[in-house]
Formats: sequence, C-alpha cells, structure tokens
Amino acid sequence: MIDAQAGGSLCTGASVGRRAGVDRPIVPGVRRFIGPFLDAAADLCLGAACPGCGRPAGRLCLDCRQAIRTGPVAPGWRLACAGLPLWSAGLYAGPLAAVIVAAKDGGRQELCALLGERLAQAVQGLAVELDLTGSGPPLSLVPVPSAAAAVRRRGFDFGLALARRAASRLAGAGLRTRVCPVLTPTRAVADQSGLDAARRRANLDQAWRARPGGLSGHCLVLDDIVTTGASLAEASRALRAAGQRVWGAATVAATADLGPARERGRPQTANG
Ligand SMILES: [Zn+2]
Repeated sequence: MIDAQAGGSLCTGASVGRRAGVDRPIVPGVRRFIGPFLDAAADLCLGAACPGCGRPAGRLCLDCRQAIRTGPVAPGWRLACAGLPLWSAGLYAGPLAAVIVAAKDGGRQELCALLGERLAQAVQGLAVELDLTGSGPPLSLVPVPSAAAAVRRRGFDFGLALARRAASRLAGAGLRTRVCPVLTPTRAVADQSGLDAARRRANLDQAWRARPGGLSGHCLVLDDIVTTGASLAEASRALRAAGQRVWGAATVAATADLGPARERGRPQTANG
C-alpha cells in the first residue's frame, strides 16, 4: 500500500531526491554560487558538458535536473495497438531526451538513477489509476528486452537497469514490485529507429517470447520511450501468449508524435 506521505513525495519529484539523499545540497546557496565556477573549471580541464543541455559542466546541471524531475507525469494515453493504458513521465524532448540518449548510448550510466526515478513515478501513476496499490503479491514489472548486440555494445541492459532503479524507488514509496525480465528475443530484428509505424510493427511481429513462470501479481510492461507503441504491443502479445494478463504500460518518455497508436482519454479497461 502506498502511504499518503511516501506516495505524495514520489509524485512531487523534486522532493524525492532530497528525501533519498540524491543530489542533496548541504548549503544550496553556496553550491549554486560556486557551481558555475566548478563547471567552468571542468570544461577548461576536461571539456566536460552537461548531458542535458550541452553547457559546460562536469555533470548534469541543476537546471536540467530540475526540468527533468518536475516534468509532468502524463496519464490518459491509451495504446490502441496494444489495448493498454499507458503512463509516461515526459515528452521525449529537451533535456529528458538528451539524458536518455546519454545514459543509453553515451556511457553515462549514472544518469539511470534519475531516469529510473521518473519511470517509478509513471508506474505509480498507472498503479494508482488501476487500483493496484493495495495488498497482494508484488506487481510484476516486465522490461521490454534489449537486443543482445545492444547489450554487448553498451556493456549493460539499459531497460533492465531502468526497471531495477524504478523498483527501488517504488519500494521506498511503499509500493511492492518485482522486476521480471521474462521476455527474450526469438529472432534478430532491425533497428526500430527510422521505421514508420507499420514497419515497426512488422519488424517486431512475433519477435519475443515470454519464459513461463517467474511472474506473480499484476503485470506491467516497461520501456524507456514509446514512439508508436509497437514494442509495448509485442511485449503484451508475448505475455498474453504465455497466459499472462497485462494491465498496463509505463515509460520514461513518450514522443510527441504517437500518431494513430494513441487515443486520448481515460483508459477504460485493461486488456485480457
Ligand atoms: Zn544542463
């Protein structure tokens, strides 16, 4: 059960970081004053830049961190192609998009903590809407699988890392979840970027399967970005084929152009 205080803190992203000790400013005024000098020194010595805005900085700048943490967690999207209610923690644009790229393919794994925090907020919004915050088995969080080649290239499984970070944040808010990476590829697929909606669906058609067992409680599918919904739809199909009901989906970000895959309005029912 989400207690009101913890749940509220998770929804108001800026306070979460302070409570959890992330980016804790001991003397905020001093840090804000000397921060630009430290960033300038880092830029001078290392050529470092903020991964969110590109300005000289040795790390994610406070403006970008604040912009990402306080972005709207959007309900009400329904993936028509998968029949799933979907919550996302921001538009795939600006600092959020840049940070996702940096964490995913830019070697900035430390940014996964912030992205996992945002994914947790999307999961919590979804769980509250679906009335899944009560007692019972932990929610099963199923990340969309990464291609083996991508995992080798990055040195880690980005989707799985985000799901684990999100689960950790949700535990701190009193919502019990369990990360269940039960989806595995059945064949090689092309890179989805650059494909239109129809080609994305064809590219992922029957591309994954769900390993039997390992799931308990209500099942939610997680991904970093939703563009057309093809990945979430294939994940849902594979889980249903294994006899698992999928209740909804949550992502860190959604592109502004979900196109015909989306329908505005409150989700009606989860798919069976
Ligand atoms: Zn920045």
